[in-house]
Amino acid sequence: REGLWQAQTPQGFRLQALLAAYAAWPQGETATDDAAILERAGGAISLVPGDPMLMKITHPEDFAMAVRLASSGAEIRIGQGLDVHPFALGETVHLCGVAIAHTARLVGHSDADAGLHAVVDAILGAIGAGDIGEHFPPSDPRWKDAPSRIFVEEALRLLGERGGRLVNIDVTLVCEAPKIAPHRAAMREALAEMLHISVDRVSVKATTTERLGFTGRGEGLLAQAVASVEIPA
Ligand code: MG
Repeated sequence: REGLWQAQTPQGFRLQALLAAYAAWPQGETATDDAAILERAGGAISLVPGDPMLMKITHPEDFAMAVRLASSGAEIRIGQGLDVHPFALGETVHLCGVAIAHTARLVGHSDADAGLHAVVDAILGAIGAGDIGEHFPPSDPRWKDAPSRIFVEEALRLLGERGGRLVNIDVTLVCEAPKIAPHRAAMREALAEMLHISVDRVSVKATTTERLGFTGRGEGLLAQAVASVEIPA
């Protein structure tokens, strides 16, 4: 069997040579493949090493096998993020990418969206890529009043750079006010759109601390997030 090879598609040919070989093929005879037709016409076939990962997908079970192959070299990682911003008198609170009318605003260098900041830190945490303050120092005037969405985009870029993808995200917002429930659906949708994952992979939860501590006294809001990512092992 030393002269036998398992061939993969696609096989490459010079078009004119292949067309001429087809034209020269004896009518009525059955060919096994293009390479046989070219060889019969006097053409030379050269072999290049292939990669089993580039298997041809024809039948549904091929696809199942490809999915298994693709995920066999991946692992799931978890990251968590936590962020706090104080409240001050204002009109709008930015949370998880949604602007909420309120009697206070969150104070911060950027738009102070603690929900998104926690998400960013969770993603960075999952890939061991530092924290949001390292990538976007509060001392840098570029991030003054910046929409936090750009921090999310950078975290996703770093994840993509490592060949990773976000699997799901779970956010918990801790405050007495504003009430989160009426905005939960909008937050999940905003996060899903921003993170390029489906809404069922995004969770936004809310709780109070029963009027205890700084969140209980309404001095600030705390956000926590957990992210899981799939990344090549
Ligand atoms: Mg923050």
